[in-house]
Amino acid sequence: MAALPTYADVEAAAGRIAGVAHRTPVLRSRLIDEQVGAELVFKCENLQRIGAFKFRGAYNALSKFTPEQRRAGVAAFSSGNHAQAVALSARLLGIPATIVMPIDSPASKLAATKGYGAEVITYNRYTESREDLGRALAEERGMTLIPPYDHHDVIAGQGTAAKELFEEVGPLEALFTPLGGGGLLSGTLLAARALSPETRVYGVEPAAGDDARQSLERGEIVRIETPVTIADGAQTQYLADQTFAIIRRDVTGILTATDAELVDAMRLIATYMKLVVEPTGALGLAAVRNALPDDLRGKRVGVIISGGNVGIDRFAQLLAR
Ligand SMILES: *Cc1c(COP(=O)(O)O)cnc(C)c1O
Repeated sequence: MAALPTYADVEAAAGRIAGVAHRTPVLRSRLIDEQVGAELVFKCENLQRIGAFKFRGAYNALSKFTPEQRRAGVAAFSSGNHAQAVALSARLLGIPATIVMPIDSPASKLAATKGYGAEVITYNRYTESREDLGRALAEERGMTLIPPYDHHDVIAGQGTAAKELFEEVGPLEALFTPLGGGGLLSGTLLAARALSPETRVYGVEPAAGDDARQSLERGEIVRIETPVTIADGAQTQYLADQTFAIIRRDVTGILTATDAELVDAMRLIATYMKLVVEPTGALGLAAVRNALPDDLRGKRVGVIISGGNVGIDRFAQLLAR
């Protein structure tokens, strides 16, 4: 395995994305605090460019390309937000992009990716391997493959969200982060361990796909079937070598949230904070509401809202259930 990224890499990433990525707002809600019984600070990555934190990692990775890599282009596989992140980063940097996406991706995500000027190739997520497709494509065309989480520069870039949060609000008792393949959680851990070493950091994955929890228990990466959940940004089947190594070393614990708990958390965020958050983006608050360790009651707790890319009709339909 290549050398793991460190906090120095997160700092370097922050320099590369400065002035390009948004420094997203940190919001609070007294009414949600009262319901939950803790003092919550929300890092709102649903208001990041492309509507999710993934722009940070993608832009960091692409901005490190050599002139030859820039000319040949970038390839990526993704069920959505990473696709948009690579497509927009590529356009800003003048790099051609080809993205492999599931044919059943939300229409809004397919359209947005094409809208940024990327070529989109679709596949069936239940029968084909996106890794194999992506790798074959990259090899055929001489393109550099940037995976959604299994990458040094992507992890470092994702860590800049928590870096900004700690710089703005100071130390926190705990921090809750959505968890799919672990890029966001790994980067968050690098920032937390450097800037607020006492903070308890929890990753929150969908209850239908708790592969990270199983992996930590077993001490090795556990692979599961594609989980069936509304949290489409966390339908990952396994952690990567690098994310597993960092998470195993630094995480406090892994929690889970059910689809019903995600919808309730989305409703709370919409009602009191007036924000549209996608199901995956609500994992952190869902866990804080349903699985907050007792000794965190009344404490200052950070929550990363990771994304807001859900079609407005779908959003209304989920909340109407
Ligand atoms: C990708 C994504 C996640 C999961 O991030 P990982 O780095 O794969 O753990 C969470 N929320 C949203 C909105 C995402 O797009």
